Amino acid sequence: MTKIGLEIHCQLTKLESKLFCSCKANYREFKPNHNICPICMGLPGSLPRLNQKAVESATSISMALSCETPEKIAFFRKNYFYPDLPKNFQITQLNVYGDMSVGGEGYVDVEGKKIKIRRIQLEEDPGRLIYEGESERTKITLVDYNRAGTPLVEIVTDPDFENPRQVRVFLNILSDLLENLGVTEPGLEGAMRADGNVSIEGGNKVEIKNIGSFHDLEKALHFEITRQQSLSERDIEISQETRHWDDKRKITVSSRSKEEDQDYRYFLENDIPWVKISQETRDSLKKDLPESISSKKERFVEKFDITPQVADILASDKYYSDLFENAHSDSDAKDIANLITTDLMGFVDTKEKREESKLASHHLSDLVTAINDKTLTRTSSKTALQEIVKSGKSVKELLTEMDLGQVSDSSEIENIIMQVFEEEKQAVLDAKENPETVNYLVGKVMQKTKGKADPTKTLELIKSKLS
Ligand SMILES: [Zn+2]
Repeated sequence: MTKIGLEIHCQLTKLESKLFCSCKANYREFKPNHNICPICMGLPGSLPRLNQKAVESATSISMALSCETPEKIAFFRKNYFYPDLPKNFQITQLNVYGDMSVGGEGYVDVEGKKIKIRRIQLEEDPGRLIYEGESERTKITLVDYNRAGTPLVEIVTDPDFENPRQVRVFLNILSDLLENLGVTEPGLEGAMRADGNVSIEGGNKVEIKNIGSFHDLEKALHFEITRQQSLSERDIEISQETRHWDDKRKITVSSRSKEEDQDYRYFLENDIPWVKISQETRDSLKKDLPESISSKKERFVEKFDITPQVADILASDKYYSDLFENAHSDSDAKDIANLITTDLMGFVDTKEKREESKLASHHLSDLVTAINDKTLTRTSSKTALQEIVKSGKSVKELLTEMDLGQVSDSSEIENIIMQVFEEEKQAVLDAKENPETVNYLVGKVMQKTKGKADPTKTLELIKSKLS
């Protein structure tokens, strides 16, 4: 069985300042090395000052992921030498002497499967290396420390995923949840990054690092599973190692033997004493948490009388659930849910398309009203919806401009039925013999009217002609 685990890094982009100094958390607007100070550069004699808000945000994330949150947390130094780390150690968290990071033992429900959250830790982001030209051949490496010290939350899962698709669903849920919490902007470049680890039946665990986007992570996981399976089929041992994702060649490449925890020589960061998070603070953070996906789902089922399956699809995605909640009046909630889940999700299916979409909630309620009062057929509503997403025009405008109005006039429909009867003589005979085949004729009428004929009336008229 394939087992996949994740480590997700999420920058707390909504905070004002870095984790241990007053430089800006939003480093993106600065010229290189213009958002730094002695603290985030680790100059001798400087001391870290912990950003209390970062501790609160990380605690809120832990709570939203159903983690246990301890009363007292500690920070550790993770020692390693790398040009993007000016202090030569990263201040992070570790669970060694009991539970001491901001959270642990949580879970996320992914399509009915519980994905366990092993640990959540608060740490500082390193700086950035910029290569001139291709990273493997470059002679010049530039270092920008603007990002050094940016507050980062690392979320570590158990290896509970069975395939890359589950990983994608999980990451979508997670990024919605974090955005909903107001702690990060997942759309910002580098705000959310993930490493994956993969093992197949009987093989060692391989970590994949250096993945720029969730989309690439999924591709990297697919590649890695295939690579490991092919080794295993040829009886070649899968070695435990760290690989990185080569974005250009779309393959994973062995990078170095994996460091063990002891290689990092972790020890307690004595410049930051133990940090207490009082019961009072935790209670108030809990009170301010936005509605969870599961309680939103329950509320949708109860209030709008939609099925648990549809409620689950809507509630898991903030974009769609906001559209839904703002569009409905209680009577047409079911129809609007139907429009979103059967049509809209089919073509507004990426982040880019959502951002470009001109659709607003009122369009959905207007469409449902037009369908219900028979000015628009269900088939034409799909065409209208696609046009609204593109242009943002009102339903009223589209009805006239695109000639989408429903044809309910009996004589007009009858004319078309006569044509169809003329062209489909065999089908007419069949329908007389076997009334169940009548839908074929209805379909032909719909085709000729580009989906605009009133389907109920069409069926009635065809039936009366056949008898
Ligand atoms: Zn600083």
